[in-house]
Amino acid sequence: MKIYLNGTFVERSQATVSVFDHGLLYGDGVFEGIRSYQGLVFKLREHVERLFESAHTIMLRIPMTKDEMIDVVTESLRVNKLRDAYVRLVVTRGEGDLGLDPRKCARPTVFVIADKIELYPRTLYEKGLELITVATQRNVPEALNPQIKSLNYLNNILAKIEAVTAGFEEAIMLSSSGYVTECTGENLFIVSGRRLLTPPPYIGVLRGITRGTVMALGERLRLDVREELLTRHDLFNASECFLTGTAAEIVPVVKIDGRVIGQGKPGPVTKRLQKGFAQLTKTEGVRIG
Ligand code: PMP
Repeated sequence: MKIYLNGTFVERSQATVSVFDHGLLYGDGVFEGIRSYQGLVFKLREHVERLFESAHTIMLRIPMTKDEMIDVVTESLRVNKLRDAYVRLVVTRGEGDLGLDPRKCARPTVFVIADKIELYPRTLYEKGLELITVATQRNVPEALNPQIKSLNYLNNILAKIEAVTAGFEEAIMLSSSGYVTECTGENLFIVSGRRLLTPPPYIGVLRGITRGTVMALGERLRLDVREELLTRHDLFNASECFLTGTAAEIVPVVKIDGRVIGQGKPGPVTKRLQKGFAQLTKTEGVRIG
């Protein structure tokens, strides 16, 4: 496996960073996860734009242009002969001293890993997922805005640990005022009649790229698509519920905190959206070449 690291492709065993890298010492850095389908990289420019936005907010200058970053992604897939893959882009503050002052870090570290996609078990999509809400609240945007896709994911990891400890795969995180936000690495949607609802970014959710794609698909299916504040009560009484994310795509949810959602199986709207999404990934995207 060849990994892009600071300007060149190196073997996996050579792809190492310093123990003084602030990405490691402080989670000071940003990342993206991207998927390619049959040689087409889905929403590549959108992911690169989001990476640069995250970096801009934390005042981290990425030492290359967006077009160069796009080329690195497609080149990573080419050199590793991957067509269906998951690509991780990481930019850290770079090597500094033991203090957290970013001014001590002269040069950002940039690496790109292209790997085989680890698909979730088929049964997850056929049977649907059972979720719980957890006590760990989502970061308040005023303290650490979830739009910054940073290397600091402990908020999400704490929630994941709670779910896994209780015997569930995923957690729903609530805001400090008790509204539904998102899962640890996926956005959440409900279907209620003709309405397709998902929490608004200001409550503390990442504006997921899959989320955006599904909202647009919903419009095309003539659903009434809205960003709306949702309570647990709204989830319990939804006709359908599902999660969205680059790696997971669209995952049906059939039970939340012991309450059966709708018919307790993946619903018709979820299935239509899954079909529409699969179609898009086959036809849209940047060709690896
Ligand atoms: N929320 C969080 C916290 C995430 O980490 C992710 C994965 N990037 C998502 C939502 C889904 O976003 P996307 O559809 O852009 O992958």
